[in-house]
Amino acid sequence: MALRLEDPVVEIDRRIASRRMGVRKKGPPAHEALAEGLGIRTVRDLLHHYPRRYIDRSTVQRIGELRIGQTATVIGRVRKIDARPTRRRGLSMVTVEIGDGTGYLDLIFFNQPWVAQVYRPGYEVAAWGLVGRRGRHLQLSNQEVELLRGGDADLVHTGRITPIHRATEGVSTRTIRELVHRALARLPRIPDPIPPEIRRAEGLLDLDAALRAIHFPSSEKERAAAERRLKFDELFVLELGVAFRKHRVEAEQVGVAHEPAGPLVERLHASLPFEPTGAQRRAMAAIDDAMARPRPMNVLLQGDVGSGKTLVALHAALVAIQSGHQAAIMAPTEVLAAQHHRSMAALLGPIGAAPYLEVADRAPGGAPQPSLFDGSVREAPSLTYALLTAAVTGKDRERILDGIARGEVDLVVGTHALVQEGVRFADLSLAVIDEQHRFGVHQRMALKGKGASPDVLIMTATPIPRTLALTYYGDLDVVVLDEMPPGRRPVRTLIARTEREREEAYELVRREVGAGRQAFVVCAAIDEANKSEVRAAEAEARRLAEEVFPDLRLALLHGRMRPAEKERVMEGFRAGRYDVLISTTVVEVGVDVPNATVMLIENAERFGLAQLHQLRGRIGRGEHPGTCVLFDGSGGRSEEAAARLEAMVRTTDGFELADEDLRLRGEGTLFDVRQSGMPDLKLASLVEDLELVKRARARAFELIREDPTLERHPTLLDELRRRFERSIDWLFHA
Ligand code: ADP
Ligand code: MG
Repeated sequence: MALRLEDPVVEIDRRIASRRMGVRKKGPPAHEALAEGLGIRTVRDLLHHYPRRYIDRSTVQRIGELRIGQTATVIGRVRKIDARPTRRRGLSMVTVEIGDGTGYLDLIFFNQPWVAQVYRPGYEVAAWGLVGRRGRHLQLSNQEVELLRGGDADLVHTGRITPIHRATEGVSTRTIRELVHRALARLPRIPDPIPPEIRRAEGLLDLDAALRAIHFPSSEKERAAAERRLKFDELFVLELGVAFRKHRVEAEQVGVAHEPAGPLVERLHASLPFEPTGAQRRAMAAIDDAMARPRPMNVLLQGDVGSGKTLVALHAALVAIQSGHQAAIMAPTEVLAAQHHRSMAALLGPIGAAPYLEVADRAPGGAPQPSLFDGSVREAPSLTYALLTAAVTGKDRERILDGIARGEVDLVVGTHALVQEGVRFADLSLAVIDEQHRFGVHQRMALKGKGASPDVLIMTATPIPRTLALTYYGDLDVVVLDEMPPGRRPVRTLIARTEREREEAYELVRREVGAGRQAFVVCAAIDEANKSEVRAAEAEARRLAEEVFPDLRLALLHGRMRPAEKERVMEGFRAGRYDVLISTTVVEVGVDVPNATVMLIENAERFGLAQLHQLRGRIGRGEHPGTCVLFDGSGGRSEEAAARLEAMVRTTDGFELADEDLRLRGEGTLFDVRQSGMPDLKLASLVEDLELVKRARARAFELIREDPTLERHPTLLDELRRRFERSIDWLFHA
């Protein structure tokens, strides 16, 4: 009977049920070890256990030409086997000598006595490892050895390229290779879930050919083609799931069809103090498009610090308001909310907008009043806006809440608490969520929980690697601001490790302050015992005031200060009443003080790249060039920290840093696959296969447009169910 993909592995070969490896006579049978060690239960699992490397005979080296110290692969025949105990009791050593006609080489096995039973003279083996010498004998150390021919291995295909599968305790790569070979021989043609049109358009092998070739390629070219096809497969199904869910969610929710062209937007653009960058224009056009559609918008706006996200957010807000609805802009901190409010007020003034509290006293609808100054009739404001944070209290707060509920406040700027504390909106149709570096899944949930389906614009300055953003934010449309407004001065970055360098950094602060500039000193939590950032900053402020800058005007800012107090300090720094602001990472979230030109970061080794980048973005915002000094508290002893700090010196491009971060920390840390419920990727990498990710994504979204429920592609739907097993609800229900 023909083998099926769903069959358990024992179906391939009943003999493996009784087969045990070498000395592990007491271990479980091979098929159980496969399930336990590698999660391989079915024939399908086995076929998706791809080789981790290959021995390519065309790259095999001759023993006679080996050089000491090189890593090499050799193939030879066993000449003799020598097993003996070593001098230390309980240790054993087996030496297998092989020859290939050009020379001889010893393979040494410690404490693997069964090796002496496995190898016989005449057997063919492949070995790779580091070439060394012992006495007059060449030997391989750290070697890995594969039996190619002889004993049971005769069964196995040994073409020019031999696959090496990852083994596990109790099952050798040889057994796995054998099983795969038998399975492929017994399987009828493996059906291909990817539609033929897509395969053709992408020039992909079909699945049957690809699976056969990935395990037993006849050439490197064939292996590469198989790999490409299987990577595409992984990415395509991943993106298909994303597209499938996105479509389902959008189809279930009804949103507002906005009017992107209108008087408010027109006036805003006519009165801008600068020309929008090309990237800003493109972003606004993409948002116009999404807001005009009756489906709820879900856009992630990614833009490096200073790339000008505020204008884009305000533009979106005006689209909502001129369409007759309300907009909310939410920031992660009070300081940042207040700053958003301030910078928006500056852009809103010229278009006839007014703070709600100023006009609330007038009759709703605001009867035109003659101006005090020139007797002209004062128009009703084009829109009203208000700031709502914890710092707004008492009567003002009540009036604003009331105005929001009655629909008289058009634009609310506040903290994330806006959504969490149940502020009632009359008709909210756009929520802008400024995440800075946080991922805002929860806020998004809170909004949706209100029953309304406003358009959502999430802004992030976290330079999420482009590849990850596409998939991590699967159901969001990603819009990128990849261009800076003109006139930015690049920030120079230095690493300080010695006392002398610290002195020089303080000198620099003094020089800049002398020239009328300002400086930040940022403190991290120092150690386990002194975990509090706040205490670290307080202590540093005291030290700097007493010992280093007794003559300068210093201020302290940290997260535990009361909102009004924070605002007072920030305002003082902005107004130039302080020379140096010592702070915790509070400043990270977007303070805009163009006169600040120096930033000293204490214990920079404790910060991640994303955070360092955010911090550094606070300087170099004005006409004067900035300098950022990273104090490496590890003194350069931590290699990983050093690599991070050096990356900061090398580039100021947030995306480059994000990619570097990913390289240093690995894909898994940023993108917790398990938590996200996304299917595992075995061959493909979201980082390295960017081109393929894009292609797979485009094809997947195209297919979902044509067949949103996949009813015409049942095998793909099955595949989707299987691969998204751990997050089936996300796909179908949530
Ligand atoms: P982000 O929020 O992305 O960090 P902002 O929106 O705060 O950046 O903009 C940073 C600074 O650049 C602000 O002072 C803003 O007024 C200014 N800016 C924004 N867009 C432009 C532009 N197109 N040309 C010149 N300056 C701009
Ligand atoms: Mg900003």
